[in-house]
Amino acid sequence: MEKLRMNPIAEMDGDEMTRVIWKLIKDELLSPFVELNTEYYDLGLPNRDATEDQVTLDAAAAARRLGVAVKCATITPNLQRVEEYGLKKMWKSPNATIRAALDGTVFRTPIMTARVSPNVKTWKKPITIARHAYGDIYKAAEYRVPGPGKARLVFEGNGVSYEDTIYDFECAGVLQGLYNKDSSIEAFARSCFAYALAVRQPLWFSAKDTISKRYDQTFKLIFQRIYDEEYREKFEEAGISYFYTLIDDAVARVIRSEGGFVWALKNYDGDVMSDMVSTAFGSLAMMTSVLMSPDGCFEYEAAHGTVTKHYYRYLKGEKTSTNPMATIFAWTGALRKRGELDGSGALCGFADKLEKACLDTIGSGVMTGDLAALAEGGDVVKADTWEFVAAVRKRLEETL
Ligand code: NAP
Ligand code: MG
Repeated sequence: MEKLRMNPIAEMDGDEMTRVIWKLIKDELLSPFVELNTEYYDLGLPNRDATEDQVTLDAAAAARRLGVAVKCATITPNLQRVEEYGLKKMWKSPNATIRAALDGTVFRTPIMTARVSPNVKTWKKPITIARHAYGDIYKAAEYRVPGPGKARLVFEGNGVSYEDTIYDFECAGVLQGLYNKDSSIEAFARSCFAYALAVRQPLWFSAKDTISKRYDQTFKLIFQRIYDEEYREKFEEAGISYFYTLIDDAVARVIRSEGGFVWALKNYDGDVMSDMVSTAFGSLAMMTSVLMSPDGCFEYEAAHGTVTKHYYRYLKGEKTSTNPMATIFAWTGALRKRGELDGSGALCGFADKLEKACLDTIGSGVMTGDLAALAEGGDVVKADTWEFVAAVRKRLEETL
């Protein structure tokens, strides 16, 4: 069989167990069938340290230039990692660096299989969470009020000033100052509308504008304006909708829904809800993640980390049962996007077939330990990572 050809994508290698799985996926599931055309960036911690993290910036620039990237999980160094790897510095999180470079929004979607049903009975289709990863309490100024005194909200601009009393404290308390920027909210809104359009799913956005009459109201108005001016027509053509509702109403509706939509959330809401939704769908190992920039660059990865605990066992010679699904789906996501952008039906078709081979393998009962613990309906064979990938390869070969 002749191998499929493709235009280049940016490939970002990573650390620990996921680095081992990365190579396994390429060797067994991709290279035999596709003439992999990637610009390779080694974001493994040793190379980030050796290049003073320049490799992360180069990789982000490549993602921008090529429009499609696939990334392996990477270590975000903390003090313990600085010692473990003898690092020159506690380098920043590569994901934060890439997100900033692309001004992007992260979309997390669970991979659903017939053998693991969500905790919420009504959920039939995945729910994608989009979190606005900028500002609010994550960049807040805070003050522990020691005792009686007046707290004031003050703004001094170019010829404009504003002052208001927040609270006249009669005792000790706490104080917090939040901010966000129109430009960041606009970029978030555009990413969300563009993503919903790309996956042809309705977009929900929720906040608390009835209580937060300036702050959350601004989010609501910006979303509505961008929808009306830039996306309404395209949404109607695609047969999808934009829907705003209050955050508490949204939570109730999400639980009663059957899924199949993108839910955009402010920073804190997204932080909390993404963990709740991913847990309710099953295993962290089944969450995929896409970083999308407002101008349409896509970077695909697994939502989980480098699975350190499994890696230490692997180093001792154990064949671990680490689930490669989210990493495989990061690759299929990137290949399908490359195919879509270039009008290559063959590449999209390969991505579809590889995903189907994975899902059918799990459907047949062959799965890694994390899923085996949750699986229902019929026999289960707990496979290690290598056995699972071999089973997927066998199925894939049958369909090609
Ligand atoms: P983690 O790698 O996601 O793993 C946490 C636990 O979740 C694992 O010990 C394992 O549980 C389970 N798990 C996660 N992925 C799995 C998979 N594919 N198959 C089976 N089980 C899986 O999180 P962490 O241990 O907190 O972080 C490890 C490193 O990853 C850290 O250095 C962190 O900085 C980095 N990290 C990177 C990213 C990223 O690059 N996007 C994201 C998060 C964390 P059991 O041990 O119970 O089997
Ligand atoms: Mg969280």
